[in-house]
Amino acid sequence: QCGTVLAGLVGRGISRSRTPAMHMAEARAQGLAGEYRLLDTDMPGWRGMDLAAILSAAEAGGFDGLNVTYPFKVEIVALLDALSDNAAAVGAVNTVVLRGGRRVGHNTDLWGFAEGFRRGLPDACRAHVLLVGAGGAGAAVAHALADCGVARLSIHDSEGARAAALADRLRQTRPGLVAAAVDDIAALFAADRPDGLVNATPMGMAALPGMAVPADLLDPALWVADIVYVPLETALLRAARARGCRVLDGSGMAVFQAVRAFELFTGRPADPARMRATFETF
Ligand code: NAD
Repeated sequence: QCGTVLAGLVGRGISRSRTPAMHMAEARAQGLAGEYRLLDTDMPGWRGMDLAAILSAAEAGGFDGLNVTYPFKVEIVALLDALSDNAAAVGAVNTVVLRGGRRVGHNTDLWGFAEGFRRGLPDACRAHVLLVGAGGAGAAVAHALADCGVARLSIHDSEGARAAALADRLRQTRPGLVAAAVDDIAALFAADRPDGLVNATPMGMAALPGMAVPADLLDPALWVADIVYVPLETALLRAARARGCRVLDGSGMAVFQAVRAFELFTGRPADPARMRATFETF
């Protein structure tokens, strides 16, 4: 691989993303002449451009790759030449490698959550987990949980059809996992308490305060993970910690998705501690 890297993030309203800083600091530390640009469809220059045109412009501009975020992770799939197994399983792409005229899609959110989980909750019981939120991130988390050895996954979403569709998908993509949609979280806890839960809804973000799981269901035997990372300490994690649960915040997924994307863009290993240190400067 050469001594330069040119990458970027495609999305809407991404001006405060921490991903560019993580990539640029890592490139600098490795002696690469690196540039990581924001391709923000809310900003002049990119506004009004469709995704196909943005991708072509990046290719023509010599980009090594792109990260892709809201609202393009599913739309981009149709514009690519090939998908990694993870991206094909989830049906969404957050990283595109542009090389030799080919566009290959990856899903590093999946590995990012899995790596954060393995490191942050290494001995968490994996028998039965509740996933709340079956959107794009929830689909990546569900596959990651299967890859981390979770045996049974209950999935709840306020849009019940999304939970059911994700459970159906997992039966194809991760047949070793027992996956089922649940409508009523309290009834699940009463009948068949999970060992852990993961919040993959936007509830708990600064703009959406609150929590998607009633606090009175939390007890010390339960581990609780949240993928929201602005703020890192969500209302759910605060309540869980107060009740004595082991908790995992959203920083691991955010850092490790960038670690793997850097490796895909450059062909070089990234230093997770260094990328985390940059993440934590925000
Ligand atoms: P999305 O809109 O695709 O999906 C969110 C899902 O949550 C939807 O299906 C929605 O119906 C459901 N939902 C919302 N409120 C709910 C509630 N109270 N109870 C049950 N279900 C509810 O969003 P997404 O792309 O999947 O992202 C979700 C959140 O994950 C984002 O807001 C972001 O904070 C976080 N995220 C974190 C990382 C990370 O690296 N840590 C990466 C991606 C996303």
